[in-house]
Amino acid sequence: GARASGRHAVRPVSGLRVALDGPGSSGKSSVGAAAAAELGYRFLDTGIVYRAITLAAVMRDIDPTDAEALVAVVPELQLVADDHGNLCRVRLADEDVTDRLHVGQVDRNVSAISAQPQVRAALLERQREVAAPGDVILAGRDIGTVVLPDAELKLYLEVSAEERARRRAAQRGVAFASAEGQGILADLVRRDHLDSTREIAPLQIAEDAVIVTSDGQEFAETVAEVVRLIRHAAERTADA
Ligand code: C5P
Repeated sequence: GARASGRHAVRPVSGLRVALDGPGSSGKSSVGAAAAAELGYRFLDTGIVYRAITLAAVMRDIDPTDAEALVAVVPELQLVADDHGNLCRVRLADEDVTDRLHVGQVDRNVSAISAQPQVRAALLERQREVAAPGDVILAGRDIGTVVLPDAELKLYLEVSAEERARRRAAQRGVAFASAEGQGILADLVRRDHLDSTREIAPLQIAEDAVIVTSDGQEFAETVAEVVRLIRHAAERTADA
């Protein structure tokens, strides 16, 4: 590293674009947001954009297979950052719809909508624009493979479906063993399957991704590991 060798002037570590991919409920959003806040990076969980289009389809009775109508929603979407530079709020036609992005109807329809090539293509530029200035983490399914194939750092968050379902059940205050808890597990497994077997931009691990496994790990530990990996990559990039 620059500091250790003393051969290079120490310069600020900046400009990195970090891809953070992983399955549903793997903690990409909360881990990514916490790591970004610690590093002073901006953050976008790209799932909220697919969710916003799905919500629009539900609200407006758009046929989920009508790609043209879905693509027409894209210019109506606006991402708004919080104080930490986390682009976590979505406005649809000037109405803040953030609080409705995780309702069951969206969960059930989002995979079918995001499997459509026209929808994905319409969102590609938007995501790349957010990433272009660097100092940013983008979370999603295909960031390292499709959106930012040349990202300076690619991370893949891996965690078992059962642990993800347990966490989500706990968030919703339902017992994992209950019918509702088992329903959460079944929904997750179903969505994993749809997301990883779809023809275009399936969930897959980029060849050059670093795998971060969070089974049995505390949230803070995973965040610390992600921060460490990003700092390390930033030093490596500054050295090059
Ligand atoms: O991450 P989250 O569960 O909020 O994503 C919701 C859905 O959006 C996923 O199930 C997937 O179908 C879609 N998605 C995607 N590509 C991304 C992010 C999300 O297809 N980069």
